[in-house]
Amino acid sequence: MTAVPSAAADDEFDVVVIGAGPTGENAADYAVRNGLTAALVESELIGGECSYWACIPSKALLRNGHVVAAARRLPGIEASLDPAAVLARRDSFVHDLHDDSQAEWAEGAGITVVRGVGRLDGERTVRVGDRVLRARHAVVVATGSVPVRPLVEGLDSVRTWGSREATTASSVPARFGVLGGGVVGCELAQAFSRLGSRVTLVNHGSRLLPSAEPVAGERVAAAMRDEGIDVRLDQGLDAVSPGPGDSIVLHLGDERIEVDELLVATGRRPNTDDVGLDTVGLEPGAPLAVDDSGLALGDWLHAAGDVTGRAPLTHMGKYAARIVGAAIAARAAGRPLDTGPWGEHSATADHAAVPQVVFTDPEVASVGLTADRARDAGRPVRVVEIDIAVAGSSLQADGYTGSATMVVDTEREVLLGVTFVGQDVAEMVHAATIAVVGEVPLARLWHAVPSFPTVSEVWLRLLETYRAGA
Ligand SMILES: Cc1cc2nc3c(=O)[nH]c(=O)nc-3n(C[C@H](O)[C@H](O)[C@H](O)COP(=O)(O)OP(=O)(O)OC[C@H]3O[C@@H](n4cnc5c(N)ncnc54)[C@H](O)[C@@H]3O)c2cc1C
Repeated sequence: MTAVPSAAADDEFDVVVIGAGPTGENAADYAVRNGLTAALVESELIGGECSYWACIPSKALLRNGHVVAAARRLPGIEASLDPAAVLARRDSFVHDLHDDSQAEWAEGAGITVVRGVGRLDGERTVRVGDRVLRARHAVVVATGSVPVRPLVEGLDSVRTWGSREATTASSVPARFGVLGGGVVGCELAQAFSRLGSRVTLVNHGSRLLPSAEPVAGERVAAAMRDEGIDVRLDQGLDAVSPGPGDSIVLHLGDERIEVDELLVATGRRPNTDDVGLDTVGLEPGAPLAVDDSGLALGDWLHAAGDVTGRAPLTHMGKYAARIVGAAIAARAAGRPLDTGPWGEHSATADHAAVPQVVFTDPEVASVGLTADRARDAGRPVRVVEIDIAVAGSSLQADGYTGSATMVVDTEREVLLGVTFVGQDVAEMVHAATIAVVGEVPLARLWHAVPSFPTVSEVWLRLLETYRAGA
């Protein structure tokens, strides 16, 4: 048996969190807010994927292009885009990949930051290099996710970009290949197209954004094609090979397409390969499954965020972290947990009300179940899908096009899911989230009067269409 060095007194904390992405930061913060001490272990940058390589830079790369496109949908506005200014603004949002301000925030919040790779080393113990951190109450694993690389002949023989290389790009490739038509592939394809790249997007499935309502992928594909993106659906990438100069050749059947950079955006998986799960009898590599209070093992091992394989979104990781923090504090104080549906210690929204915005143009803003998922869950559903043709939308942009889909549980007459597709619909999703979480009866929604003239008037059209078909 190897001797485990005894922990120094200052290496004992109520809670030890591994991974300082948005989830880990919030888990530590909520533990401290609840009167506990917390150590936060981070191997790269405090703030995680989201702050430096994912949400923030991708949205910074997209924003100017969307504003220019929106301006061009109105008469009398001249708008153009300066790629260098977009890249510079992106750099400022990611703090040039320095995490000083987040480290300062953590210390200010009373969290002890420990730099290095953290691994479980038996019950309530985390090893960071030579340092051994002991957790009096809980360990929270919040190590996020890592990209999945597909098996494509020749892929390892060429230079490829993952989302990190794309979101930190210092120049705009003239010809840009994108493999994968999920959220990351679609957003970055459009970002680079609007920054000036000629983009080819290859997707082996028949639709983009496969986990959204079908109308979302259809409208996004149509918009991308309209602006010159070559969207290939139902098309696997057979092989890739080095091309002339520094280029990369995509093999699509008999066709050959040369690109200057190739983004591989074919999904992510929970990051559990090297977190020491085997030291506590769990399987490395698999998602770290949790119950709704975030508990993975015994009464001490918790997990939250992408690592759990639940909704892989920043806001959902933060939500799970708030619940984990509160649950740990309740257990530490010997208080019973409230784990019933929508209880203080239950991540109920993970199952019923995950909001998500895909920041393409048109945006896709959705919450809850799609029609297919609701049916798979055995719910009796009726689906209302209409165009967003209301006074608010026609004022928003000339030729505004978009759609609104509402999935109704016909037994309970409440909303199970809502999807909006269109320019500027991102801010509309929270109203839908409240309606789904609150299980607001449709009869009551009639009294939620949308302001005139806003795009939200589509809510009234949805209810009218539902009633007309009743
Ligand atoms: C291109 C892109 C765009 C995205 N856009 C959005 C968006 O607009 N909105 C949205 O909600 N979501 C978006 N996401 C998803 C979002 O980034 C993730 O859901 C979110 O970052 C998950 O947070 P997390 O804290 O669970 O994990 P992460 O952010 O991945 O953080 C995990 C942290 O753990 C650290 N770590 C890992 N292993 C160890 C270890 N052994 N020891 C110490 N530290 C360790 C890592 O270095 C990292 O800092 C996007 C993702 C991508 C790839």
